Amino acid sequence: MVSEHDRGACPAHLVTRRQLRARGLSPGGHGPVAVLRCKRCAYRPDQSCTHPSRAWLYDVALARPKRTPTLAQEWALDRAMAVRQTCPQCRRWYFFALPLRTIGSCLECHDGTPADPGSYITPAPAGAHRLAA
Ligand SMILES: [Zn+2]
Repeated sequence: MVSEHDRGACPAHLVTRRQLRARGLSPGGHGPVAVLRCKRCAYRPDQSCTHPSRAWLYDVALARPKRTPTLAQEWALDRAMAVRQTCPQCRRWYFFALPLRTIGSCLECHDGTPADPGSYITPAPAGAHRLAA
């Protein structure tokens, strides 16, 4: 059962979602702990108020900093980008996404159009150890 507070008589540590965001916080997996209600609704015993000033309140102590991508998520994004930028035939890693859906390779592999050497990274020879000098 969540507690209810009237606007203006609300504990300082309970804030609305908008106020959380303004502080750079998110609910952090916790649901609202209380309800902010307008004065008018406070006198309604059935509590069926849908007045806009009725809002969920979150406890600042339970909130967490806004979600930022974790290293694993960034790594996954990088991997996804790398797949789209790597030619499956010559294994060059281009600095732009390749038309893999239509052509299936880079232009040079497709029709011989020479690629700008500055637009890709040539992969290490197959079998070479990445950490080897
Ligand atoms: Zn290629």
